[in-house]
Amino acid sequence: MSLSEIDLHSSLKKYFGFSKFKGLQENVIKSILEGKNCFVVMPTGGGKSLCYQLPALMQEGTAIIVSPLIALMKNQVDAIRGVSAEMGIAHVLNSSLTKTEIKQVKADITNGITKLLYVAPESLTKDEYVEFLQSVKISFVAVDEAHCISEWGHDFRPEYRNLKNIISRLDDSIPVIGLTATATPKVQEDIIKNLGIGDADLFKASFNRPNLFYEVRPKTQNIEADIIRFVKQNSGKSGIVYCLSRKKVEELAQVLQVNGVSAVPYHAGFDTKTRSKYQDMFLMEDVDVVVATIAFGMGIDKPDVRFVIHHDIPKSIESYYQETGRAGRDGGEGHCLAFYSYKDIEKLEKFMSGKPVAEQEIGNALLQEMVAYAETSMSRRKFILHYFGEEFDEVNGDGAMMDDNTKNPKEKEEAKDDLVK
Ligand code: ADP
Ligand code: MG
Repeated sequence: MSLSEIDLHSSLKKYFGFSKFKGLQENVIKSILEGKNCFVVMPTGGGKSLCYQLPALMQEGTAIIVSPLIALMKNQVDAIRGVSAEMGIAHVLNSSLTKTEIKQVKADITNGITKLLYVAPESLTKDEYVEFLQSVKISFVAVDEAHCISEWGHDFRPEYRNLKNIISRLDDSIPVIGLTATATPKVQEDIIKNLGIGDADLFKASFNRPNLFYEVRPKTQNIEADIIRFVKQNSGKSGIVYCLSRKKVEELAQVLQVNGVSAVPYHAGFDTKTRSKYQDMFLMEDVDVVVATIAFGMGIDKPDVRFVIHHDIPKSIESYYQETGRAGRDGGEGHCLAFYSYKDIEKLEKFMSGKPVAEQEIGNALLQEMVAYAETSMSRRKFILHYFGEEFDEVNGDGAMMDDNTKNPKEKEEAKDDLVK
Protein backbone atom coordinates (compact mmCIF):
# COMPACT_ATOMS: atom_id res chain seq x y z
CA MET A 1 0.00 0.00 0.00
CA SER A 2 1.21 3.48 -0.77
CA LEU A 3 1.35 6.11 1.91
CA SER A 4 -1.85 7.73 0.70
CA GLU A 5 -3.67 4.37 0.84
CA ILE A 6 -2.58 3.93 4.44
CA ASP A 7 -3.88 7.44 5.13
CA LEU A 8 -7.18 6.59 3.50
CA HIS A 9 -7.64 3.43 5.52
CA SER A 10 -6.67 5.03 8.80
CA SER A 11 -9.05 7.92 8.12
CA LEU A 12 -11.81 5.45 7.32
CA LYS A 13 -11.14 3.68 10.61
CA LYS A 14 -10.77 6.90 12.58
CA TYR A 15 -13.93 8.61 11.37
CA PHE A 16 -16.27 5.71 10.64
CA GLY A 17 -14.81 2.71 12.44
CA PHE A 18 -14.85 0.62 9.23
CA SER A 19 -11.79 -1.40 8.28
CA LYS A 20 -12.61 -1.88 4.59
CA PHE A 21 -14.04 0.20 1.78
CA LYS A 22 -17.18 -1.03 0.11
CA GLY A 23 -17.23 -1.54 -3.67
CA LEU A 24 -15.87 1.44 -5.56
CA GLN A 25 -15.64 3.81 -2.58
CA GLU A 26 -11.86 3.90 -2.41
CA ASN A 27 -11.47 4.74 -6.10
CA VAL A 28 -14.11 7.45 -5.91
CA ILE A 29 -12.44 9.00 -2.88
CA LYS A 30 -9.04 9.01 -4.57
CA SER A 31 -10.48 10.85 -7.56
CA ILE A 32 -12.17 13.40 -5.33
CA LEU A 33 -8.94 13.98 -3.42
CA GLU A 34 -7.22 14.56 -6.76
CA GLY A 35 -9.70 17.36 -7.41
CA LYS A 36 -11.53 15.70 -10.29
CA ASN A 37 -15.20 15.91 -11.23
CA CYS A 38 -16.85 12.57 -10.52
CA PHE A 39 -20.06 10.80 -11.36
CA VAL A 40 -21.05 7.97 -9.03
CA VAL A 41 -23.83 5.47 -9.74
CA MET A 42 -24.40 2.90 -7.01
CA PRO A 43 -27.56 1.11 -5.87
CA THR A 44 -29.27 2.22 -2.69
CA GLY A 45 -27.32 1.03 0.30
CA GLY A 46 -24.12 0.95 -1.73
CA GLY A 47 -22.44 3.51 0.51
CA LYS A 48 -22.52 6.69 -1.57
CA SER A 49 -22.48 9.12 1.39
CA LEU A 50 -19.08 7.98 2.55
CA CYS A 51 -17.67 8.73 -0.91
CA TYR A 52 -17.99 12.44 -0.23
CA GLN A 53 -17.95 12.47 3.58
CA LEU A 54 -14.49 10.99 3.96
CA PRO A 55 -12.68 13.27 1.47
CA ALA A 56 -14.54 16.25 2.93
CA LEU A 57 -13.22 15.38 6.38
CA MET A 58 -9.69 14.88 5.02
CA GLN A 59 -9.46 18.07 2.96
CA GLU A 60 -9.03 21.73 3.68
CA GLY A 61 -12.10 23.89 3.27
CA THR A 62 -15.82 23.07 3.37
CA ALA A 63 -17.60 20.63 1.08
CA ILE A 64 -21.09 21.66 0.02
CA ILE A 65 -23.50 18.72 -0.06
CA VAL A 66 -26.70 19.32 -2.00
CA SER A 67 -29.52 17.05 -0.92
CA PRO A 68 -33.26 17.23 -1.59
CA LEU A 69 -34.68 16.37 1.82
CA ILE A 70 -34.16 18.04 5.18
CA ALA A 71 -34.69 14.72 6.97
CA LEU A 72 -31.90 13.07 4.96
CA MET A 73 -29.57 15.97 5.71
CA LYS A 74 -30.33 15.96 9.43
CA ASN A 75 -29.58 12.23 9.71
CA GLN A 76 -26.26 12.65 8.00
CA VAL A 77 -25.27 15.67 10.06
CA ASP A 78 -26.06 13.82 13.30
CA ALA A 79 -24.02 10.84 12.10
CA ILE A 80 -21.02 13.02 11.20
CA ARG A 81 -21.18 14.90 14.48
CA GLY A 82 -21.03 11.53 16.19
CA VAL A 83 -17.57 10.90 14.76
CA SER A 84 -16.06 14.15 15.98
CA ALA A 85 -15.73 16.13 19.17
CA GLU A 86 -16.54 19.26 17.16
CA MET A 87 -20.27 20.01 16.75
CA GLY A 88 -19.52 22.46 13.96
CA ILE A 89 -17.87 19.82 11.77
CA ALA A 90 -21.17 19.43 9.87
CA HIS A 91 -24.03 21.88 9.47
CA VAL A 92 -27.30 22.20 7.62
CA LEU A 93 -27.99 25.58 6.09
CA ASN A 94 -31.68 26.19 5.55
CA SER A 95 -34.52 28.60 6.05
CA SER A 96 -35.52 27.14 9.41
CA LEU A 97 -32.37 28.48 11.13
CA THR A 98 -32.55 31.54 13.41
CA LYS A 99 -30.29 34.55 12.82
CA THR A 100 -28.05 33.46 15.70
CA GLU A 101 -27.75 29.96 14.28
CA ILE A 102 -26.85 31.29 10.84
CA LYS A 103 -24.16 33.44 12.42
CA GLN A 104 -22.72 30.37 14.14
CA VAL A 105 -22.73 28.33 10.94
CA LYS A 106 -20.95 31.13 9.08
CA ALA A 107 -18.38 31.52 11.86
CA ASP A 108 -17.64 27.78 11.88
CA ILE A 109 -17.18 27.76 8.11
CA THR A 110 -14.95 30.85 8.15
CA ASN A 111 -12.84 29.36 10.94
CA GLY A 112 -12.30 26.17 8.95
CA ILE A 113 -14.16 23.98 11.46
CA THR A 114 -16.99 22.98 9.16
CA LYS A 115 -16.06 20.20 6.75
CA LEU A 116 -19.55 19.42 5.44
CA LEU A 117 -22.27 21.93 4.75
CA TYR A 118 -25.60 20.39 3.76
CA VAL A 119 -27.90 22.59 1.72
CA ALA A 120 -31.17 22.18 -0.12
CA PRO A 121 -30.93 23.45 -3.70
CA GLU A 122 -33.43 26.24 -3.05
CA SER A 123 -31.26 27.65 -0.24
CA LEU A 124 -28.42 27.95 -2.70
CA THR A 125 -30.44 30.37 -4.81
CA LYS A 126 -30.36 32.98 -2.04
CA ASP A 127 -27.92 35.78 -2.88
CA GLU A 128 -27.02 36.19 0.76
CA TYR A 129 -25.74 32.61 0.97
CA VAL A 130 -24.06 32.62 -2.43
CA GLU A 131 -22.16 35.81 -1.56
CA PHE A 132 -21.05 34.30 1.73
CA LEU A 133 -19.92 31.06 0.07
CA GLN A 134 -17.94 33.07 -2.50
CA SER A 135 -15.81 34.38 0.36
CA VAL A 136 -14.80 31.03 1.87
CA LYS A 137 -12.79 27.99 0.78
CA ILE A 138 -14.95 25.27 -0.79
CA SER A 139 -13.31 21.86 -1.25
CA PHE A 140 -15.95 20.48 -3.64
CA VAL A 141 -19.68 20.36 -4.28
CA ALA A 142 -21.41 16.97 -4.00
CA VAL A 143 -24.85 16.69 -5.55
CA ASP A 144 -26.57 13.76 -3.85
CA GLU A 145 -29.71 12.20 -5.37
CA ALA A 146 -28.54 13.79 -8.61
CA HIS A 147 -31.38 12.13 -10.60
CA CYS A 148 -33.59 14.94 -9.24
CA ILE A 149 -32.08 17.00 -12.07
CA SER A 150 -33.78 14.83 -14.72
CA GLU A 151 -37.39 14.71 -15.82
CA TRP A 152 -36.74 11.03 -16.57
CA GLY A 153 -35.90 10.34 -12.95
CA HIS A 154 -38.51 9.41 -10.39
CA ASP A 155 -38.18 12.61 -8.41
CA PHE A 156 -37.68 15.61 -10.70
CA ARG A 157 -36.94 18.86 -8.87
CA PRO A 158 -36.59 21.92 -11.09
CA GLU A 159 -34.35 23.71 -8.55
CA TYR A 160 -31.66 21.13 -9.29
CA ARG A 161 -31.44 22.63 -12.79
CA ASN A 162 -29.96 25.84 -11.33
CA LEU A 163 -27.10 24.16 -9.58
CA LYS A 164 -24.62 24.47 -12.41
CA ASN A 165 -25.14 28.24 -12.58
CA ILE A 166 -24.76 28.66 -8.87
CA ILE A 167 -21.62 26.56 -8.73
CA SER A 168 -20.04 28.63 -11.49
CA ARG A 169 -20.94 31.79 -9.56
CA LEU A 170 -18.95 30.38 -6.64
CA ASP A 171 -15.93 29.34 -8.65
CA ASP A 172 -15.84 27.47 -11.94
CA SER A 173 -12.91 25.35 -10.85
CA ILE A 174 -14.62 23.74 -7.84
CA PRO A 175 -14.87 19.98 -8.42
CA VAL A 176 -18.42 18.69 -8.76
CA ILE A 177 -19.48 15.20 -7.69
CA GLY A 178 -22.84 13.81 -8.83
CA LEU A 179 -24.26 10.76 -7.02
CA THR A 180 -27.36 8.71 -7.74
CA ALA A 181 -28.89 5.24 -7.50
CA THR A 182 -30.73 5.68 -10.79
CA ALA A 183 -28.89 3.77 -13.43
CA THR A 184 -30.87 4.42 -16.61
CA PRO A 185 -28.69 5.85 -19.38
CA LYS A 186 -31.19 8.69 -20.06
CA VAL A 187 -31.09 9.96 -16.49
CA GLN A 188 -27.32 9.69 -16.43
CA GLU A 189 -26.95 11.72 -19.61
CA ASP A 190 -29.21 14.39 -18.14
CA ILE A 191 -27.16 14.57 -14.96
CA ILE A 192 -23.85 14.87 -16.77
CA LYS A 193 -25.23 17.52 -19.13
CA ASN A 194 -26.99 19.59 -16.50
CA LEU A 195 -24.15 19.52 -14.01
CA GLY A 196 -21.67 20.23 -16.79
CA ILE A 197 -19.41 17.33 -15.84
CA GLY A 198 -18.77 15.73 -19.23
CA ASP A 199 -15.16 15.19 -18.18
CA ALA A 200 -16.07 13.42 -14.92
CA ASP A 201 -14.45 10.20 -13.73
CA LEU A 202 -17.28 7.68 -13.99
CA PHE A 203 -17.91 5.11 -11.25
CA LYS A 204 -20.71 2.72 -11.88
CA ALA A 205 -21.42 -0.23 -9.62
CA SER A 206 -23.31 -3.27 -10.87
CA PHE A 207 -27.04 -3.33 -10.16
CA ASN A 208 -27.20 -7.11 -10.31
CA ARG A 209 -28.79 -8.73 -7.26
CA PRO A 210 -27.90 -12.38 -7.91
CA ASN A 211 -29.75 -13.74 -4.89
CA LEU A 212 -33.14 -12.37 -5.98
CA PHE A 213 -35.47 -14.64 -7.97
CA TYR A 214 -37.74 -12.74 -10.38
CA GLU A 215 -41.14 -14.09 -11.38
CA VAL A 216 -44.24 -12.70 -13.08
CA ARG A 217 -47.64 -14.42 -12.95
CA PRO A 218 -50.83 -13.47 -14.70
CA LYS A 219 -53.24 -11.59 -12.45
CA THR A 220 -56.60 -13.32 -12.43
CA GLN A 221 -59.71 -13.19 -10.28
CA ASN A 222 -57.98 -15.68 -8.01
CA ILE A 223 -55.20 -13.32 -7.10
CA GLU A 224 -56.04 -13.29 -3.41
CA ALA A 225 -56.00 -17.08 -3.25
CA ASP A 226 -52.72 -17.08 -5.19
CA ILE A 227 -51.14 -14.70 -2.70
CA ILE A 228 -52.47 -16.64 0.30
CA ARG A 229 -51.06 -19.86 -1.14
CA PHE A 230 -47.65 -18.28 -1.79
CA VAL A 231 -47.46 -16.76 1.69
CA LYS A 232 -48.51 -20.02 3.34
CA GLN A 233 -45.86 -21.93 1.40
CA ASN A 234 -43.41 -19.45 2.87
CA SER A 235 -44.84 -19.35 6.34
CA GLY A 236 -42.54 -18.05 9.04
CA LYS A 237 -40.64 -15.96 6.51
CA SER A 238 -40.83 -12.16 6.33
CA GLY A 239 -42.35 -10.58 3.26
CA ILE A 240 -43.84 -7.41 1.83
CA VAL A 241 -46.93 -7.29 -0.39
CA TYR A 242 -47.22 -4.03 -2.31
CA CYS A 243 -50.61 -2.72 -3.48
CA LEU A 244 -51.43 0.40 -5.42
CA SER A 245 -54.26 1.73 -3.26
CA ARG A 246 -54.74 2.20 0.48
CA LYS A 247 -58.11 0.51 0.19
CA LYS A 248 -56.60 -2.63 -1.32
CA VAL A 249 -53.89 -2.64 1.36
CA GLU A 250 -56.51 -2.77 4.11
CA GLU A 251 -58.68 -5.32 2.31
CA LEU A 252 -55.83 -7.68 1.52
CA ALA A 253 -54.31 -7.45 5.01
CA GLN A 254 -57.68 -8.45 6.37
CA VAL A 255 -58.10 -11.33 3.91
CA LEU A 256 -54.68 -12.62 4.91
CA GLN A 257 -55.50 -12.34 8.61
CA VAL A 258 -58.80 -14.16 8.17
CA ASN A 259 -56.89 -16.92 6.41
CA GLY A 260 -54.48 -17.37 9.28
CA VAL A 261 -51.57 -15.32 8.01
CA SER A 262 -50.08 -12.85 10.50
CA ALA A 263 -50.14 -9.60 8.55
CA VAL A 264 -50.42 -5.86 9.16
CA PRO A 265 -51.41 -3.09 6.77
CA TYR A 266 -49.26 -0.01 6.17
CA HIS A 267 -50.00 3.20 4.23
CA ALA A 268 -49.62 6.95 4.59
CA GLY A 269 -53.27 7.34 5.59
CA PHE A 270 -52.63 5.95 9.07
CA ASP A 271 -51.43 8.36 11.74
CA THR A 272 -47.75 8.32 12.71
CA LYS A 273 -48.35 6.25 15.84
CA THR A 274 -50.24 3.51 14.01
CA ARG A 275 -47.68 3.46 11.21
CA SER A 276 -44.73 3.03 13.53
CA LYS A 277 -46.64 0.39 15.51
CA TYR A 278 -47.21 -1.74 12.39
CA GLN A 279 -43.71 -1.10 11.12
CA ASP A 280 -42.20 -2.22 14.43
CA MET A 281 -44.39 -5.34 14.48
CA PHE A 282 -42.91 -6.27 11.12
CA LEU A 283 -39.33 -5.41 12.09
CA MET A 284 -39.61 -7.28 15.42
CA GLU A 285 -41.19 -10.27 13.64
CA ASP A 286 -44.43 -10.17 15.58
CA VAL A 287 -45.98 -10.57 12.12
CA ASP A 288 -44.67 -12.20 8.97
CA VAL A 289 -46.18 -9.98 6.35
CA VAL A 290 -46.73 -6.28 5.81
CA VAL A 291 -49.26 -5.33 3.13
CA ALA A 292 -48.33 -1.83 2.05
CA THR A 293 -48.40 1.00 -0.43
CA ILE A 294 -45.07 2.34 -1.64
CA ALA A 295 -45.10 4.58 1.46
CA PHE A 296 -43.51 1.57 3.15
CA GLY A 297 -39.85 0.85 2.69
CA MET A 298 -37.83 4.06 2.49
CA GLY A 299 -35.15 3.81 5.14
CA ILE A 300 -36.41 0.44 6.39
CA ASP A 301 -33.52 -1.94 6.74
CA LYS A 302 -34.76 -5.43 7.51
CA PRO A 303 -32.04 -7.71 6.19
CA ASP A 304 -34.05 -10.94 6.00
CA VAL A 305 -37.09 -10.00 3.92
CA ARG A 306 -37.59 -13.25 1.96
CA PHE A 307 -40.22 -12.16 -0.56
CA VAL A 308 -41.68 -9.05 -2.15
CA ILE A 309 -45.01 -9.52 -3.91
CA HIS A 310 -46.58 -6.92 -6.18
CA HIS A 311 -50.36 -7.21 -6.19
CA ASP A 312 -50.30 -4.38 -8.76
CA ILE A 313 -47.61 -3.71 -11.30
CA PRO A 314 -45.52 -0.61 -10.45
CA LYS A 315 -45.21 2.43 -12.72
CA SER A 316 -41.63 1.86 -13.84
CA ILE A 317 -38.74 -0.59 -13.80
CA GLU A 318 -36.88 1.73 -11.42
CA SER A 319 -39.73 1.54 -8.92
CA TYR A 320 -39.86 -2.23 -9.31
CA TYR A 321 -36.12 -2.51 -8.80
CA GLN A 322 -36.23 -0.31 -5.67
CA GLU A 323 -39.17 -2.15 -4.16
CA THR A 324 -37.90 -5.67 -4.88
CA GLY A 325 -34.47 -4.53 -3.69
CA ARG A 326 -35.80 -4.71 -0.14
CA ALA A 327 -35.72 -8.51 -0.36
CA GLY A 328 -32.62 -10.52 0.48
CA ARG A 329 -30.44 -7.69 1.79
CA ASP A 330 -28.55 -10.25 3.85
CA GLY A 331 -27.56 -12.10 0.67
CA GLY A 332 -30.04 -14.93 1.37
CA GLU A 333 -33.02 -15.95 -0.72
CA GLY A 334 -35.36 -13.25 -1.98
CA HIS A 335 -38.37 -14.08 -4.14
CA CYS A 336 -39.79 -11.22 -6.20
CA LEU A 337 -43.23 -12.06 -7.54
CA ALA A 338 -45.25 -9.59 -9.61
CA PHE A 339 -48.85 -10.14 -10.67
CA TYR A 340 -49.60 -8.63 -14.04
CA SER A 341 -52.70 -7.83 -16.01
CA TYR A 342 -52.90 -5.33 -18.86
CA LYS A 343 -55.99 -3.85 -17.20
CA ASP A 344 -53.72 -2.51 -14.46
CA ILE A 345 -51.60 -0.75 -17.05
CA GLU A 346 -54.70 0.97 -18.38
CA LYS A 347 -55.54 2.03 -14.84
CA LEU A 348 -52.09 3.59 -14.40
CA GLU A 349 -52.44 5.34 -17.76
CA LYS A 350 -55.71 6.82 -16.60
CA PHE A 351 -54.06 8.16 -13.43
CA MET A 352 -51.60 10.03 -15.58
CA SER A 353 -54.14 11.50 -17.97
CA GLY A 354 -54.65 14.58 -15.79
CA LYS A 355 -50.97 15.50 -15.81
CA PRO A 356 -49.08 17.91 -18.10
CA VAL A 357 -48.40 16.42 -21.56
CA ALA A 358 -44.61 16.20 -21.17
CA GLU A 359 -44.99 14.35 -17.91
CA GLN A 360 -47.55 12.00 -19.46
CA GLU A 361 -45.22 11.15 -22.32
CA ILE A 362 -42.42 10.26 -19.96
CA GLY A 363 -44.77 8.37 -17.65
CA ASN A 364 -46.14 6.32 -20.54
CA ALA A 365 -42.70 5.50 -21.89
CA LEU A 366 -41.63 4.23 -18.45
CA LEU A 367 -44.84 2.25 -18.16
CA GLN A 368 -44.34 0.60 -21.56
CA GLU A 369 -40.96 -0.68 -20.33
CA MET A 370 -42.78 -2.23 -17.40
CA VAL A 371 -45.21 -3.93 -19.82
CA ALA A 372 -42.26 -5.24 -21.82
CA TYR A 373 -40.71 -6.63 -18.63
CA ALA A 374 -43.93 -8.37 -17.63
CA GLU A 375 -44.47 -9.84 -21.09
CA THR A 376 -40.91 -10.79 -21.99
CA SER A 377 -39.83 -14.39 -22.37
CA MET A 378 -36.17 -13.58 -21.88
CA SER A 379 -34.18 -13.71 -18.64
CA ARG A 380 -35.82 -11.11 -16.39
CA ARG A 381 -32.50 -10.31 -14.78
CA LYS A 382 -31.03 -9.64 -18.21
CA PHE A 383 -34.00 -7.41 -19.02
CA ILE A 384 -33.64 -5.33 -15.84
CA LEU A 385 -29.89 -4.98 -16.16
CA HIS A 386 -30.16 -4.08 -19.84
CA TYR A 387 -32.63 -1.37 -18.87
CA PHE A 388 -29.94 -0.01 -16.55
CA GLY A 389 -27.38 -0.06 -19.36
CA GLU A 390 -25.64 -3.16 -18.09
CA GLU A 391 -24.76 -6.34 -20.02
CA PHE A 392 -25.75 -9.65 -18.46
CA ASP A 393 -24.73 -13.13 -19.58
CA GLU A 394 -27.88 -15.17 -19.04
CA VAL A 395 -25.96 -18.44 -19.21
CA ASN A 396 -22.93 -17.83 -17.02
CA GLY A 397 -23.75 -14.56 -15.25
CA ASP A 398 -24.15 -14.39 -11.48
CA GLY A 399 -27.77 -15.33 -10.78
CA ALA A 400 -28.33 -16.71 -14.26
CA MET A 401 -31.01 -19.29 -13.41
CA MET A 402 -32.81 -17.06 -10.96
CA ASP A 403 -35.97 -16.14 -12.84
CA ASP A 404 -39.09 -17.89 -14.08
CA ASN A 405 -38.31 -17.56 -17.79
CA THR A 406 -34.83 -19.04 -17.54
CA LYS A 407 -35.77 -21.73 -15.05
CA ASN A 408 -38.84 -22.91 -16.95
CA PRO A 409 -38.46 -21.66 -20.50
CA LYS A 410 -41.72 -21.40 -22.40
CA GLU A 411 -41.86 -23.46 -25.55
CA LYS A 412 -40.25 -21.33 -28.17
CA GLU A 413 -42.84 -20.40 -30.81
CA GLU A 414 -40.07 -19.58 -33.27
CA ALA A 415 -38.48 -22.95 -32.72
CA LYS A 416 -41.76 -24.71 -33.44
CA ASP A 417 -42.23 -22.64 -36.60
CA ASP A 418 -38.76 -23.62 -37.76
CA LEU A 419 -39.60 -27.28 -37.31
CA VAL A 420 -42.78 -26.96 -39.35
CA LYS A 421 -40.81 -25.40 -42.19
P1 ADP B 1 -26.49 5.01 -0.30
O1 ADP B 1 -26.50 6.50 -0.11
O2 ADP B 1 -25.62 4.58 -1.45
O3 ADP B 1 -27.87 4.43 -0.39
P2 ADP B 1 -25.43 5.00 2.37
O4 ADP B 1 -24.39 6.02 2.17
O5 ADP B 1 -26.67 5.44 3.06
O6 ADP B 1 -25.83 4.33 0.98
O7 ADP B 1 -24.78 3.75 3.10
C1 ADP B 1 -25.48 2.58 3.35
C2 ADP B 1 -24.94 1.86 4.56
O8 ADP B 1 -23.65 1.34 4.31
C3 ADP B 1 -24.79 2.77 5.77
O9 ADP B 1 -25.34 2.12 6.88
C4 ADP B 1 -23.30 2.95 5.91
O10 ADP B 1 -22.92 3.17 7.26
C5 ADP B 1 -22.78 1.63 5.40
N1 ADP B 1 -21.39 1.72 4.91
C6 ADP B 1 -20.90 2.62 4.03
N2 ADP B 1 -19.60 2.40 3.78
C7 ADP B 1 -19.25 1.31 4.48
C8 ADP B 1 -18.02 0.57 4.66
N3 ADP B 1 -16.91 0.92 4.00
N4 ADP B 1 -18.04 -0.50 5.47
C9 ADP B 1 -19.18 -0.87 6.12
N5 ADP B 1 -20.35 -0.22 6.02
C10 ADP B 1 -20.40 0.86 5.21
MG1 MG C 1 -27.74 8.13 -0.21
